[in-house]
Amino acid sequence: MPINQERLARTFKALVRCDSVSRAEGRFAALLQEHLQALGVTTRFDRSAARTGSDTGNLVGYRAGRIPNKPLLFSAHMDTVVPGRGIHPVLRNGCFTSAGDTILGADDKSAIAILLEVLAVLKAAEEPFAPIELVFSTCEEIGLLGAKHLDFGMVSAEMGYVLDARDPDRLINRSPSANRLHLKVHGKEAHAGASPEKGINAIFIASRAIAALQWGRLDRETTRNIGTLRGGEATNIVPSLVHIEAEVRSHDEDKLVRATREIVSTFQATVDAVTPNPFNGSTPRLEASVTPDFKRTHIPDDHPVVELAAGAGRSLGRRIRTQAAGGGSDANIFFQKGIATGVLGTGMQDVHTRDERIALDDMVKACELVLEIIRRYSGTA
Ligand SMILES: [Zn+2]
Repeated sequence: MPINQERLARTFKALVRCDSVSRAEGRFAALLQEHLQALGVTTRFDRSAARTGSDTGNLVGYRAGRIPNKPLLFSAHMDTVVPGRGIHPVLRNGCFTSAGDTILGADDKSAIAILLEVLAVLKAAEEPFAPIELVFSTCEEIGLLGAKHLDFGMVSAEMGYVLDARDPDRLINRSPSANRLHLKVHGKEAHAGASPEKGINAIFIASRAIAALQWGRLDRETTRNIGTLRGGEATNIVPSLVHIEAEVRSHDEDKLVRATREIVSTFQATVDAVTPNPFNGSTPRLEASVTPDFKRTHIPDDHPVVELAAGAGRSLGRRIRTQAAGGGSDANIFFQKGIATGVLGTGMQDVHTRDERIALDDMVKACELVLEIIRRYSGTA
């Protein structure tokens, strides 16, 4: 039973036309629930909404098969980034784009369309397969919030796949740990024209600390970034406060700790080096907080998750390569909870931009791989 390209394209269009920016996935979740139920999937919502701030919980599905086995997990996120309202998908020369003024939403609705197509093929074929568990999360794009607050009592799979990457011939089995930092540099306010010598310029101190540190890629495994910098009120006021948000990621826990500490210690040393203001004795002050964002995923190349995908690829005449990713995904959270979860590609490209696009052929390839993974896992391939 082959993949039905037209049906897949139709499903994808219907999904991206239903808005679901982070925290407003409710209407989309209801639509998805209908699709799933029509395909024989039992669905439930968890109670994460109160904790994520979304208007819906995560949607968890279970598709019973006739082969007794532990269920296999597949997951995708329901939310999109902005501008993601009123998306108008256009299919031209086999490639989907948006009409131009929004993202496309292939991240991650291509994954959802692929999973729905695979379920439709399995249903039509009336073939036996092992049970499938499905998790459709909320608020992935704003810090993996849905997955972080997922009711894991509703999931019993021990392994599975998140579909949320680009290349349909790759499996991401390693991704970094990440820390978020919030730094506040406090200076002293003063009139910039009348009495600048009474002030301590917080922007100036923060800039010195930033300039003293290395940013971007620190080594093969470690990256560091300043994402936001806010401070100051007006040109005629010596600024008394700067907020800085930064992050560090590494595949190596020790390096993560060191690169994080170095930020805080450099800011602290820069603040400490400022001599007290001669007019009022004021000194600057640092407030720093570090929040662990997610923990690394590290699935060995000989793990069943990798071998299953590689074997499925082989029987389709494709070579599925493993890959280390620089980003985190819901898979990091599943992995932390003891579910070995690889990340598969759907074909999505230039995500989070108005140029986001996806080739229908790549989505078909992803469908074929997922279907073959299920068949091999079920022992029917
Ligand atoms: Zn995504």
